[in-house]
Amino acid sequence: MSTMLADTARHRVVVIGAGFAGLQLVHQLSHPAVSITLIDRRNHHLFQPLLYQVATTVLSTSEIAWPIRHLFRDRSEVETLLGEVTGVDRDNRCVVLEDGTGVAYDTLVVTTGSRHAYFGKDQWEPFAPGLKTLEDATTIRRRILQAS
Ligand SMILES: Cc1cc2nc3c(=O)[nH]c(=O)nc-3n(C[C@H](O)[C@H](O)[C@H](O)COP(=O)(O)OP(=O)(O)OC[C@H]3O[C@@H](n4cnc5c(N)ncnc54)[C@H](O)[C@@H]3O)c2cc1C
Repeated sequence: MSTMLADTARHRVVVIGAGFAGLQLVHQLSHPAVSITLIDRRNHHLFQPLLYQVATTVLSTSEIAWPIRHLFRDRSEVETLLGEVTGVDRDNRCVVLEDGTGVAYDTLVVTTGSRHAYFGKDQWEPFAPGLKTLEDATTIRRRILQAS
């Protein structure tokens, strides 16, 4: 596994997840002795409370999603990485990405959110699909538009 070594003179904070929690943390955490790597499997931050409006054709997808790198374009100490985290090597203090690369950290913050649940009634999912992502919203929108 190759490991990406950031600026080792600074305390390296790695944040997994650029949802509300991850973004709030990065916005609040600003110190000359700290470098931040923000990792997300999507290139955009998603404003989930407005997914309903996309699903019902009131808004377009671009109105509720913003590129993560753009949000921190003025923060030179913040690096954004697009990647799926598949594990954490705690012994070597390293986050493992799907492509096999590792990202070293001094402090790790995991803000990966949650997923929907059916409380043991998974057979309900085809009739009441989840609404957590842009793909979920556009799938529901398509079903609404094609319903006859
Ligand atoms: C339809 C809907 C309506 C809502 N309405 C409201 C409301 O009106 N008011 C309110 O207060 N709250 C509302 N919420 C809840 C609110 O949106 C969530 O509580 C909030 O978005 C959770 O933020 P988070 O940062 O914890 O997780 P998320 O926003 O889910 O962010 C997690 C991030 O982690 C990333 N991630 C996850 N796993 C990995 C991995 N393995 N590797 C890399 N990246 C990963 C994801 O891509 C995502 O960007 C609503 C939620 C939904 C779905």
